Amino acid sequence: MAKVLRPLSGSGTPHVVVVGAGMVGLSTAWYLQEHGVQVTVIERSGVAAGSSWGNAGWISPGLCVPLSDPSVLKYGLKAVLDPDSPLFIPLKPDVRLASFLLGFARRCTPGQWRKTMDLFVPVNRLAIGAYDELESNGVAARSHEAPIMAAFRRAEDAKGLEHEIELIHEAGLDLEATEVDNATLRAELPIISPDVEKAIRLGGQRYINPGEYVDALAQAVQERGGRLVIGANARALRHGPGGVTVEMMSGEPVSGDAVVIATGAWLPELAKTCGVRVPVRAGRGYSFSVSVTDENARPVPCPVYFPHERVACTPLGDRLRVGGTMEFAGTEDPLSADRVAAIRRSGEPLLTGVNWDDQQDVWVGGRPVTVDGLPLIGETKVPGVYVNGGHGMWGITLGPLSGRLLAEQMVTGQVPCELTPFSPTR
Ligand SMILES: Cc1cc2nc3c(=O)[nH]c(=O)nc-3n(C[C@H](O)[C@H](O)[C@H](O)COP(=O)(O)OP(=O)(O)OC[C@H]3O[C@@H](n4cnc5c(N)ncnc54)[C@H](O)[C@@H]3O)c2cc1C
Repeated sequence: MAKVLRPLSGSGTPHVVVVGAGMVGLSTAWYLQEHGVQVTVIERSGVAAGSSWGNAGWISPGLCVPLSDPSVLKYGLKAVLDPDSPLFIPLKPDVRLASFLLGFARRCTPGQWRKTMDLFVPVNRLAIGAYDELESNGVAARSHEAPIMAAFRRAEDAKGLEHEIELIHEAGLDLEATEVDNATLRAELPIISPDVEKAIRLGGQRYINPGEYVDALAQAVQERGGRLVIGANARALRHGPGGVTVEMMSGEPVSGDAVVIATGAWLPELAKTCGVRVPVRAGRGYSFSVSVTDENARPVPCPVYFPHERVACTPLGDRLRVGGTMEFAGTEDPLSADRVAAIRRSGEPLLTGVNWDDQQDVWVGGRPVTVDGLPLIGETKVPGVYVNGGHGMWGITLGPLSGRLLAEQMVTGQVPCELTPFSPTR
């Protein structure tokens, strides 16, 4: 059982250092403050500098399912040959990547998918509630209630999602899914190309502008007395009688009674030395925004998802963010213009009334993907060092809840039952 968080420094109030100012790190800091803990968030680049900025911003517990879908294997084979495939695996030799992908592929079976889904269901049910808590307690950003419209150019392409919805229902998760007739679709979403043959409305979801939201969360943490140190690049952790010290690449170390590593796709750099052996790789995704030129289509009322092409669109004011791709390249590799062009080529026939030449905010970010598709939330082998990360495709949906549950574990010493399968030392 984890130890209860106590002030070792003798100050009376426990102090926790959170490394990483993404959705997950800042949510953890905010929920620790709910328990009266003092927090310092250290971040090497800036708030939401990792994958928490240009993502699709869906809070979609209804779709928060394991990535290890057997259909991913089909994409995997295609990916090696097709430059427009939504999954991109570079052909250069990389033993570690090969072993990660083999480990991942081994788990892409229907049985494993079901088992993993059963572990997601309890957290999916609680995910939106954590957003409500943030928003009714001082976080000055709003999540928007809206369905996600899944659209298919050929009606037969909907079979995969329909099957997935059946499995989601079998797993016991509530997901309202209703087929939308063509007239309704055109009236509600004139932005969708008339070539689209079928659409399914997935109700009960939400979306955010993730960059703005994470900024507001950082603001709230500071307003509640938290310290945010930007430009602090954590190099190593040292555990001693006075708590845990975070050594920096340069500059003064920062110490706390406990430390939370919430460094997204960079998680192994610090967590490996704390006994966290589950491999994590950056599954890089791209996005950009385009202007919506058709006045009747503005503002776009809800996110739109093209599952066959794996393209996700999210309203951002008067613009639309378009994103996609899962690229297993190096975390620090430069943005690939080819991947951006491939998303545009996939999106062009699916949307109408947008100006593809007015492309702004072109972005790449690494989803922290674990080999077994489960997040890593809990205590490491080093006393006082915790991890919160590895959420892969779903760190926006599950970030606030993960922060809430981990904070509860740290202050009570009890591991919430929802977190048991996500132990970082599994
Ligand atoms: C294209 C795309 C679309 C997506 N869409 C969705 C979606 O719709 N819904 C959803 O739920 N999820 C989505 N995701 C996934 C989601 O973005 C991630 O799971 C989530 O942002 C992970 O958050 P994080 O805080 O763990 O990591 P990050 O946001 O990457 O934050 C980690 C932070 O740690 C900092 N850091 C790293 N190392 C150090 C160090 N040594 N010292 C100090 N600081 C350090 C980094 O600079 C960074 O700011 C999407 C991802 C992509 C790429």
